[in-house]
Amino acid sequence: MRSLEAIETVGVVGAGTMGNGIAQVAATAGYDVVMRDIEAEFVERGLDSIDDSLSRFVSKERLTEADADAARARITGTTDLKDLAAADLVVEAAVENMDVKKDVFADLDDLVDEDVVLATNTSTLSITSIAAATERPELVVGLHFMNPVPLMKGVEVVRGELTDDAAVDVAHGFAESLEKETWESDDKPGFVTNRILMPWLNEGIRAYDEGVASKEDIDRGMTLGTNVPMGPLTLADHIGLDICLHASETLYDELGERYKPAYLLKRKVEAGELGKKTGSGFYDYE
Ligand code: NAD
Repeated sequence: MRSLEAIETVGVVGAGTMGNGIAQVAATAGYDVVMRDIEAEFVERGLDSIDDSLSRFVSKERLTEADADAARARITGTTDLKDLAAADLVVEAAVENMDVKKDVFADLDDLVDEDVVLATNTSTLSITSIAAATERPELVVGLHFMNPVPLMKGVEVVRGELTDDAAVDVAHGFAESLEKETWESDDKPGFVTNRILMPWLNEGIRAYDEGVASKEDIDRGMTLGTNVPMGPLTLADHIGLDICLHASETLYDELGERYKPAYLLKRKVEAGELGKKTGSGFYDYE
């Protein structure tokens, strides 16, 4: 298996919110990065986000201009998956859809050297099922970065049913080389974070819908009362209500009643009020 020390080039599949964040932190840590999306405009948008984010790091003096320029120069965008052929590690961050992920992993399995670890950033899907699309399930592992990737310290390493200890070690080591801190979860629905977070968010939304308190007081109650940095309604808006609903539905399918998405969450998504990214969710961001 390709060791952590042998990793020079990292392939990233998907240039969206998570993919471009992962590309940025990997390049900042000194890796060469090839980031692939399906359309040139998505690749460009991803590269623009990286430029903006690196500029913010420079203006906050968390990175020198020279280091930011060097990181940016290490990132290549592409629409051709074949450009990932020389990758020493791949992190997949395409859309949260099992069929798409299985297709991506089957293609990567044919393309990338057979000793290379293939990681997925999935939030809720089974690592074991994704791995089954490959001939190397022992080298498939979950590497669940948190959003926004350049700012969030934590990365959840998820061990599929057939994942080798050595691949799990590479995943921890790679995340640590990006100055992240890791913890490990078994391949159970939602892993540690979303399994516990999603019911908390849904309960906050239900409490609001049932008139327990105003949205502001629910958020204040949870931040001041339990010492978390954001209350459930603010956090749901930041994550995106569509993403919260999708994750909740996956957990509901797998784990049953206690994961049922809140009615008001569904209604907001139907109305196109997806949170901060659309300008309104539980709060107004205009
Ligand atoms: P996103 O919609 O911002 O980006 C997904 C990108 O994948 C899009 O640009 C899309 O064009 C691209 N894509 C689709 N099919 C592809 C393919 N075959 N090859 C390459 N690119 C393809 O989504 P996101 O929020 O970045 O989420 C990506 C993954 O990360 C999902 O699995 C999601 O569950 C997970 N995740 C998301 C968050 C979050 O808060 N957004 C947090 C942790 C994990």
